[in-house]
Amino acid sequence: LQRSTRKTIGVIGGGIVGISCALFLQRSGHVVEVIDYAGPGEGASSGNAGIIALSEVVPLSTMSTLAQLPSLLLSKTSPLRVRASYLPRAAPWLLRFVLACREKRLRAIETALNGLLSNSWASWTEIVRGTDGEHLLSRAGWLQVFETAASLARRQTTINRKRRFGILIEEVGPAEIRQLEPALAPRFAGGLYYPKNGLVHDPLKMVQALAESFVATGGAYHRERVMTIDPAQENQVKIQTDTARRNYDAIVVAAGAWSRSLVRALGYDMPLDTERGYHLMLEKPRATITRSVNFPDHGFSLTPIGDAIRLTSGLEFAGLNAHPDFRRIQRLTRHASQMIPELVAVSTSQWLGFRPSFPDSLPVIGALRDHPGVVVAFGHGHLGLTAGPFTGSLVASIMGGVPLPIDMSPFSPDRWR
Ligand SMILES: Cc1cc2nc3c(=O)[nH]c(=O)nc-3n(C[C@H](O)[C@H](O)[C@H](O)COP(=O)(O)OP(=O)(O)OC[C@H]3O[C@@H](n4cnc5c(N)ncnc54)[C@H](O)[C@@H]3O)c2cc1C
Repeated sequence: LQRSTRKTIGVIGGGIVGISCALFLQRSGHVVEVIDYAGPGEGASSGNAGIIALSEVVPLSTMSTLAQLPSLLLSKTSPLRVRASYLPRAAPWLLRFVLACREKRLRAIETALNGLLSNSWASWTEIVRGTDGEHLLSRAGWLQVFETAASLARRQTTINRKRRFGILIEEVGPAEIRQLEPALAPRFAGGLYYPKNGLVHDPLKMVQALAESFVATGGAYHRERVMTIDPAQENQVKIQTDTARRNYDAIVVAAGAWSRSLVRALGYDMPLDTERGYHLMLEKPRATITRSVNFPDHGFSLTPIGDAIRLTSGLEFAGLNAHPDFRRIQRLTRHASQMIPELVAVSTSQWLGFRPSFPDSLPVIGALRDHPGVVVAFGHGHLGLTAGPFTGSLVASIMGGVPLPIDMSPFSPDRWR
């Protein structure tokens, strides 16, 4: 970059989204600093299921989810939970979620998600190149298995909606499931195999590897908490952290589920909430699975992560501060050992994470209209690991003023003004 176009840019948040923005901005020639009070990837980006879920163009907000909502909310074993004390806070978000289920809106959301996801694999392979993260990424595929033919048949509408976007889905029978994952119990009537989906074999290590590459190439990582953002002066954004004042030509807000309060003072009160999710780590058995397997009948997934099996589940509305409640996910361990007979269902560690979620399932990516030096990149919900790197490349294009490869209007922060 020429001296005149090179910017000094501060990125708030060192999760997969923030680190991806930092790396792509750095590779475009800017001087970049990341600010996060925690280490790289220690937020939601550490404990997820690791799936590069390119196939998930259909959001949760569908009529079929709505139809199931009453039973999901009342059941004590369902992954969905709204804590009673949080219901008044969650109600406006939930109402918007219901509105997002209307067919016309749903179609627009699917098209927007497809724009993000269909570009995400290329950005993943680009971002890991030359870093220690390269060996942590693979195109492992993703498997969903169903206990009955009826429960598989209930997926047909979703399958059809995905296929409209050219998503490759193979319907597999018991014999093919055994071939794909011999360690699974022979109890499934059928499954869906997504050969194009990928896997990050250790999400925390991946973000750490990307951050190491960023720092090794001259990037700075400040362990500080951002308190306020002040874009008052033209071409300058001031940041006050708990220990320092910092000045940048431009900033990126990528603080995941914690981003809402950071941009509120800039005139944006966005309906960002958190869908809390849990995981348990289980000892890896000798006969094990090789890719992430999802069990929709029981509401959880099992994924080989590092040298363990990670059980992920949960979609809990209780805000950012309520204590974790591990009872529901602990109850699932019994089911987990029914899925993989050799699995010893005793957890070695447990984790609660905060998905940054908008009710329409779309992140905000773009500059704030009144403050062009402030670019936002948060709210990726269930798909942040998948879409983080492509988001980083979009943010680098926005900062560089170059044409963008997809229609950005669905991701505009102004949709919440
Ligand atoms: C159980 C579970 C399973 C999941 N599975 C998948 C999956 O398989 N595939 C997928 O694509 N996605 C998955 N996700 C979603 C994915 O993990 C998230 O969308 C993604 O990690 C969000 O990344 P982020 O960088 O926006 O946020 P985070 O990783 O949370 O990063 C935000 C960072 O901002 C920092 N921060 C916050 N406030 C401040 C401040 N004031 N000053 C400085 N720093 C600040 C935090 O410390 C944090 O490090 C899953 C999520 C959960 C909970």
